[in-house]
Amino acid sequence: MRQQIVAGNWKMNKTLEEGLELTKGILEKVEKPKGLVVIAPPLTHLKEIGKMIKVRKYFHLAAQNCHHEPKGAYTGEVAADMVASVGAEFVIIGHSERRQYFKEKNDVLAAKVNACIARGMRPIFCCGEPLHIREVDTHVGYVAKQLKAGLFHLKEEDFRKVVIAYEPIWAIGTGRTASAQQAQDMHLAIRVLVAKKYGKAIADDTTILYGGSCNAQNAQELFSQPDVDGGLIGGASLKAEDFATIIAALK
Ligand code: PEP
Repeated sequence: MRQQIVAGNWKMNKTLEEGLELTKGILEKVEKPKGLVVIAPPLTHLKEIGKMIKVRKYFHLAAQNCHHEPKGAYTGEVAADMVASVGAEFVIIGHSERRQYFKEKNDVLAAKVNACIARGMRPIFCCGEPLHIREVDTHVGYVAKQLKAGLFHLKEEDFRKVVIAYEPIWAIGTGRTASAQQAQDMHLAIRVLVAKKYGKAIADDTTILYGGSCNAQNAQELFSQPDVDGGLIGGASLKAEDFATIIAALK
């Protein structure tokens, strides 16, 4: 089913104490959201924050990453089973920061998607083009390649569990948001790609989030677009008031 979702990606911010304070603030400010609220704190905080949010049925927990192998000699890494065992229901996969700084390539991302689904979690699969690709107008083809390589190997029943997050890299953390029209055009293009692969019914049911400098001021305009089903929020998810305003902008 197509769901409206606002997901907060805290990245590498907040100590546990600060994270619990932020979560308390969010819980106080958010009442009856029109969709799901997903919180993606650092891995170390998953269990404690999971305990806090489980009192609200619309709140869900996400890991920001997991390893694609089930276990083994991968010092510092955490497997899908492990994040599931502390309550993660979603995993962010393919974020541009993981692609850029940790050199995660499409084959690894596809394996992470599989690991996440095999453990009963839902991938939030990120895609999006860098500025030079946008400037030469080849962004749809660029994102199509990311989707084909990372997701389109899935069987229909597994693809239904996926949330797609379109995050143009030039908009992430830069304060430069895609216009509502740019977001809508790309989300529609993604939906058409999904329809070509899995059929219109599944495409219509797919949740596609926008990410990239989405904030309390611009969320409503972005979310009002017909193919924008909410947002993946970085910086603005670190302030309870701003995050609550963004959640209130869901249609
Ligand atoms: C993100 O990192 O997923 C993101 C969208 O960040 P920001 O909202 O800070 O641009």
